[in-house]
Amino acid sequence: GPAAILGRQAARESAARTYATSLPIVPVRARGMMIEGADGRRYLDCLTGAGSLALGHNHPVVLEAIRAVLDSGAPLHTLDLATPVKDAFTTALFETLPPELADHARVQFCGPAGTDAVEAAVKLVRTATGRGGLLAFTGAYHGMTSAALAVTADTEARSAAGGADSGVTRLPYPYDYRCPFGVGGTQGARLATRWTTSLLDDPKGGIQPPAGMIVEPVQGEGGVIPAPDAWLRDMRRVTAERGIPLIADEVQTGVGRTGTFWGVDHAGVVPDVMVLSKAIGGSLPLAVIVYREELDVWRPGAHAGTFRGNQLAMAAGTATLRYVAANNLAHRADVLGARMTTRLRGLAAHYPGIGDVRGRGLMIGVELVDAEADRDEYGALPAAPRLAAAVRAEALRRGLIVELGGRHSAVVRLLPPLTITDEQAEAVLDRLSDAIAAAER
Ligand code: PMP
Repeated sequence: GPAAILGRQAARESAARTYATSLPIVPVRARGMMIEGADGRRYLDCLTGAGSLALGHNHPVVLEAIRAVLDSGAPLHTLDLATPVKDAFTTALFETLPPELADHARVQFCGPAGTDAVEAAVKLVRTATGRGGLLAFTGAYHGMTSAALAVTADTEARSAAGGADSGVTRLPYPYDYRCPFGVGGTQGARLATRWTTSLLDDPKGGIQPPAGMIVEPVQGEGGVIPAPDAWLRDMRRVTAERGIPLIADEVQTGVGRTGTFWGVDHAGVVPDVMVLSKAIGGSLPLAVIVYREELDVWRPGAHAGTFRGNQLAMAAGTATLRYVAANNLAHRADVLGARMTTRLRGLAAHYPGIGDVRGRGLMIGVELVDAEADRDEYGALPAAPRLAAAVRAEALRRGLIVELGGRHSAVVRLLPPLTITDEQAEAVLDRLSDAIAAAER
């Protein structure tokens, strides 16, 4: 039974398990945003593969695409060889890219995970520029392998790995609710830009000449923090003026999630490198980088790997990219996300523990705070990680799966599939509001 399976998992698997520690369920069936445990209980899944299931679980077009490859007799292991399946995937992918990039782009298949693509992006810009430094942001999450971990901001995660670091300069990411400059809004973002330019142009600023700047259009793990459009455009201008490649990490923001096909589309920014994973594989492991062809200084074999030809993931990914584009699910994410955010802001009026509601499209965050504590000099309340953990547990009890993020794990994150129905959206908010009420008690 499920209890025995969970017991064996706890005994056999590393203590580094993440989701499994807060989700004691044994999933056996799923469809759309419904996931069913071995005990027969059903949940609404607002985690959906850590944001990788744009079409939810087992969408018919995805299953059909996978079956077509299996039934065709095509090889499943194809290294990085050309295949019709890969050809269809790159065609579909290039059609979605900002045209200025797509017209002069190269794609490199990187391996299964987002972190693999971040490693490749960092290596590419270092090779292309001959420089070693990197610019990354407070709150950033880019993965758990060495270069990806170096640009990730989590101090504990990095020091646990022996301080994995190499010439990374950490710059302020605008975080309106807890603005590092204490002003927030447009002015806070402008000060973040000023901090960045003054450091880059200061010969005694002590930074290692940067090979690139890596940025998330909306920080996910960092607490669902959307980059203001004007600030992202500033980062594009600042890097372009100084010959620094701009890397957009769209692992979580891609494929319609934020209300446009790519997160950078809101600001109309065209990065030099895009890091893509999660939803591009239609629920199977796939990661690529796409970049301006001038950066393609690699010689044959310069970036190798055995598993860069996952035919099933490419087929599932092609079906997903095409379905999201054809049905304009980005627009749906935009409309529904705005509606959900509005209702959540309404809840904040009733629950003092809700400090902030923010997000873009169907990437929504609810920051929980300690309403009893004193406000700081800028009016903010301290984060409430225990309340957030209680909300997650109460939500699970009510058949709703949500994950936490943010600096102190005090942000409830909603990442439903883009195919979520209006009724499901209402049910999610009903359960979440009940969970918050129960947790605050
Ligand atoms: N970049 C971003 C923005 C992410 O959100 C994540 C995963 N949450 C990664 C990179 C790493 O991807 P993976 O877990 O597949 O290695």
